[in-house]
Amino acid sequence: EDVVNRIAAGEIVQRPANALKELIENSLDAKATNVIITVKSGGLKYLQIQDNGTGIRYEDLEIVCERFTTSKLQQYEDLRQICTYGFRGEALASISHIAHLTILTKTSSAKCAYRASYENGRLKGPLKACAGNNGTQITVEDLFYNVIARKKALRSPSEEYTHIMDVVTGYAIHNNHVGFTLKKFGENTDLKTPIKSSVIDNVRIIHGNTIARELMEIKLTDPVLKLNVNGYITNVNYSNKKGTLLLFINHRLVDSQAIKKAVESVYSTYLPKNAHSFVYLSLELDPKNVDVNVHPTKHEVQFLYEEQIIEKIKSCIETKLLSCNS
Ligand code: ADP
Ligand code: MG
Repeated sequence: EDVVNRIAAGEIVQRPANALKELIENSLDAKATNVIITVKSGGLKYLQIQDNGTGIRYEDLEIVCERFTTSKLQQYEDLRQICTYGFRGEALASISHIAHLTILTKTSSAKCAYRASYENGRLKGPLKACAGNNGTQITVEDLFYNVIARKKALRSPSEEYTHIMDVVTGYAIHNNHVGFTLKKFGENTDLKTPIKSSVIDNVRIIHGNTIARELMEIKLTDPVLKLNVNGYITNVNYSNKKGTLLLFINHRLVDSQAIKKAVESVYSTYLPKNAHSFVYLSLELDPKNVDVNVHPTKHEVQFLYEEQIIEKIKSCIETKLLSCNS
């Protein structure tokens, strides 16, 4: 049974950045305002996330790593209305099958923190009372130590770190009310955003002033489509970095080939071939119209009225690009 679970977990968590994304979303669900991420070897050896959120109650620690254990889903009906990131109760369970997982957590009403280690979805050893701040620290060590196939398929630590950086960058820019810090163990901080910031300031901190001062605001509402779009785009990104498309749907970092293609097609009409741009779009859609029940690895999202929504976004970007090129 453990072997089956391990294989399933290896499918869900394909690289350290997948695990990190789930852990960041848990911290955001727990209302954290500060998230500190520390990694060794691109997260393969060690991946730690520390937040100042609600913490996990003592009585829940025994079961948090069991499959389908979630504090976020009251009834099946909720799946359609979900507002938090989590709902499957699979992330911690999966990670515990393919890594050494340790949780150190304290709720504000608890007298002390507790430390718990997990293996194959189960608590390993007793809960230990210890000192700690309010919030949760989750440490994932030796990811894929028991998944030979996955280990072989992995890229270098530096490539894994790039993926981690992309995830942290995305969530840091989008969540401008949350401070994010990313560092390699024992080294200087690679990324740090303040707790209270703006999207523009976060872009400046992360991508530099050249891009930040080019940002043009995108705003779009459509009551019929139940659509809200907020974002920033640049005309051209003058640095040599590759173009960036940062896409959030209902505050989840996702991929959409359809939106990507649409954005690229607008840009290729108005800009020279090799011009690279920064595009950040945050779509809010009626949760009923978004398929949130996607597999964790399928970041590719599906939503209703895709064509109409994409047309709206295209023409909005088009107008912006025309206004600054004329
Ligand atoms: P889900 O997010 O789908 O509920 P997870 O496996 O990601 O499932 O997490 C299981 C449960 O553990 C959550 O429902 C939550 O109660 C608790 N939890 C996980 N991470 C945190 C955190 N950083 N702060 C507070 N509670 C957490
Ligand atoms: Mg979760």
